[in-house]
Amino acid sequence: MNHGFYFDNAATTRLHPAALEAMMPYFADAYANPSSIYRPAQQVRRAIDEARKTVAEAIHAKPEEIFFTSGGTEADNWALKGMVKQGGHLITTSIEHHGIFHVAEFLKATQGAEVTYLPVDDTGMVNPAGLEKAIRPDTSLVSIMLANNEVGSIQPIRQLAAIAHAKGVPFHTDAVQAVGHIPVYVDELGVDMLSLSSHKFNGPKGTGALYVKKGTKLTPSLHGGAQERNRRAGTENVAGIIGMARALEISMQEMPKESSRITELRNRLIDEITSTIPHSYLNGPQDNRLPGNVNISFRFIEGEAILIHLDMHGFQASTGSACSSLSLSPSHVLMAMNRGHELTNGAIRFSLGIDNTASHITSLVATLQSSVAKIRSLSPLYDDYLKTQK
Ligand code: PLP
Repeated sequence: MNHGFYFDNAATTRLHPAALEAMMPYFADAYANPSSIYRPAQQVRRAIDEARKTVAEAIHAKPEEIFFTSGGTEADNWALKGMVKQGGHLITTSIEHHGIFHVAEFLKATQGAEVTYLPVDDTGMVNPAGLEKAIRPDTSLVSIMLANNEVGSIQPIRQLAAIAHAKGVPFHTDAVQAVGHIPVYVDELGVDMLSLSSHKFNGPKGTGALYVKKGTKLTPSLHGGAQERNRRAGTENVAGIIGMARALEISMQEMPKESSRITELRNRLIDEITSTIPHSYLNGPQDNRLPGNVNISFRFIEGEAILIHLDMHGFQASTGSACSSLSLSPSHVLMAMNRGHELTNGAIRFSLGIDNTASHITSLVATLQSSVAKIRSLSPLYDDYLKTQK
């Protein structure tokens, strides 16, 4: 499949060839069940142990604090459901991924949990003073994402975790969009739990991990065999785990170079769009954002119309999170940032990754200029606007 110009790396990334290569033996000869006791099985067990060490080192955790899961969604579900019990109080934010947001709603509906959604400012940042005020004696958990998947805002997690801990409340962060792209170290952040997902850093899909700090009282997620130290039963996704570890290793090696290269491309894309396309506005913070995230609202038109035009020219992007693009409801993130319906409906997320180059940016900007002009020429909203200008 020819992907043309791929600008949807926040939805998923291309599997790194070295990760694929590392996985291949585990689809073929190395098929033994790592829980068995014969030597071929023990070799597979050792490969999993090595992968656990690699993932732990990347985030400054201990290997025994890493629990492999089927991805970010499972890690998020586990952190919340394993910690917030009947009638408990959860604090989260109004801009979380649905992997948190819908779990919070579920806990409300089925466990009688109370949920406080902290607001964000118009750049998508949480106010630490708001967290301090929201914590109650019965608060069971604070869960605040490290980096937002739609607008790339990076929260002051270290400060937020310290506020929760000062009141004796455990802290979870969804770091799915951050790990592999910016330094994420659990010892520096001081978090108790952290979710990560392999397919966001050029690893395979369907694999992730939950970091659980030693001593954290978290209910096991799946009951059955003794895998993952009795806390997440089920025969391991061996190839996925090996591929994730290899991809993370490469991302960590490349990060110093890649993050500045991608940040430069991101800034160029933001500048060129907002300076050459009238009525286009950046969503999210100017600086405190993920290297690869660009989110722009184009007034008077719908994001979907732009996406279709871009697709016809070989460019892939997204209107928000890949999960919410299946529903037509407006982005809860942009609405929480008070962007209003028009700017929310006209938003596009371009997320950059390892394959994007300067020439991709040049082509994208040129295509956007013509697509936006064409779509606006058919827009009654734009027509009304022009009449008011005469
Ligand atoms: N959390 C965030 C912030 C995400 O962006 C995503 C995926 O888009 C997830 C969680 C879910 O991760 P996964 O696709 O591995 O289930």
